[in-house]
Amino acid sequence: MTHNGTQKMNQPLNQVRCIVNTCEYYGQGNHCLASKIEVQPQNAQNSDQTACATFMPKG
Ligand code: SF4
Repeated sequence: MTHNGTQKMNQPLNQVRCIVNTCEYYGQGNHCLASKIEVQPQNAQNSDQTACATFMPKG
């Protein structure tokens, strides 16, 4: 399964720390295995208003 052409990698290739262990791209040790991620939305005022749009439910 992919999101907008995002591939699931065997190794964490980015420096993103993510604890969302219900995500298809989540890797043990709180790594993100997505080849790229997208964070939304525009004009957010604080971190609570931002979210990873690449999230996909595991399975
Ligand atoms: S795609 Fe987003 S939610 Fe999923 S592991 Fe990566 S950073 Fe976390």
